[in-house]
Amino acid sequence: MARQIKSPNIEKSFYKLPYFSVLGVLVFVILFAVLWRPLNLERTVYIPLSSQAETTVINNPHSSVEIEEARIEMVDGKPDAEQVTESSDEPEDEIVKDELDDIIDEKDNTVQYTISRGDTLHDILLRYNVNKNDIYQLTTKFKQLANLRIGQQITWTTDDDHNLQSFSWIISSNNIRIYEKSGDKFIESSETVESVPENVIIKGEIQSSFVTDARKSGLTNNEISIITRALQWRLDFRRLQVADKFVAIVKREMHGERLTNSQLIGVRIKNGSKDYYAILADDGKYYNINGDSLSQSFFRYPLMKQARVSSHFNPRRLHPISGQVTPHNGVDFAVSRGTPVLSVGNGEVVIAKYSGSAGNYIAIRHGRQYMTTYMHLDKILVKPGQQVKQGEKIALSGNTGRSTGPHLHFELHINNKPVNPLTASLPISEGLTGKSKNVFLEKAKEVKSKLSL
Ligand SMILES: [Zn+2]
Repeated sequence: MARQIKSPNIEKSFYKLPYFSVLGVLVFVILFAVLWRPLNLERTVYIPLSSQAETTVINNPHSSVEIEEARIEMVDGKPDAEQVTESSDEPEDEIVKDELDDIIDEKDNTVQYTISRGDTLHDILLRYNVNKNDIYQLTTKFKQLANLRIGQQITWTTDDDHNLQSFSWIISSNNIRIYEKSGDKFIESSETVESVPENVIIKGEIQSSFVTDARKSGLTNNEISIITRALQWRLDFRRLQVADKFVAIVKREMHGERLTNSQLIGVRIKNGSKDYYAILADDGKYYNINGDSLSQSFFRYPLMKQARVSSHFNPRRLHPISGQVTPHNGVDFAVSRGTPVLSVGNGEVVIAKYSGSAGNYIAIRHGRQYMTTYMHLDKILVKPGQQVKQGEKIALSGNTGRSTGPHLHFELHINNKPVNPLTASLPISEGLTGKSKNVFLEKAKEVKSKLSL
């Protein structure tokens, strides 16, 4: 561009309309971007600029590259030196799920789901891999299923090949619609019996694994998953041994023969000589017998001090050149090579190795639901299988893999999905205090007395 302006043809070409308009658009976009900056508190110009680039210079790839460079210069405030234009952070190998994940994923044939904003039945079932033809049959035949409301609960069961067997929709506590497969069609029936909540005590002993033996004892997959989540920070379920025991109280709501809702009231697991309790409080959370939190807290940043964010989490990021959607599943912190990288929580290192475009790469599992990853590291200081504490130095940041400037790429996954680590709601480890603690201790005493093994 600069060279062209110096050329002797500048006078003539300046008055040629197409050339002029391209220049005009470029000047407009750059002006827009510069003016935008003071308004943008976080100094991220991803959304306004990429959409601008998309709509104004859609047929001119050269201009679009120019704009991307202008953007980076502006965000950083320092041209060239610290450009971060990585195109992908995908590690070459997947994070391996452990046995408990596999067992839960594989045989989770009954799903309880609460409708939330923006949900449609079609999308929910698709997300859970239900056979598309069954989804079509159900939603086209029963138009009333378009009237699901926020907060209502649906439950469905599939066979091992994802074919829908039955579907139920709880409209209210005494009005439930049931859709049962018969041949290749669904038949609707309704129940208007008032549901009767009942506390059930279930006991078992470990013979092979917690999931298998809990199922054998009569706990549903949904109840097992509530138990493993409630105790995920206190107990590693894989370490349970043969002859360890468990007992749970679940409040189940039955509509006739059908289980429509269940809630874990309390659970006790005896691992060797040690007892682990999780008791439900009035705030809907689980605490140990003394009202202490079962949760564990996280740092927002894997660094000793806050650093400038050079690229934000963006699941719909457009690639600067190809225009394709290439999600940015984490946050990039512009830190110089050799900056200490800290684990954001207690956990176990599951991956620590060099991996393609991610460079030197660490993945840490925290409890059952959380995973963090750290990429483009200069030096890895931990080994797979190692237990790490919150705040422990696990690596030095760097510029390895597909990265064009020193930075730390950090991801947070909740239930195996990447989320924005800067805004995601993270568990807080706060125990009960004051009046709510006294109320809880009373209740816990009563629940504990029923949790005998
Ligand atoms: Zn990144």
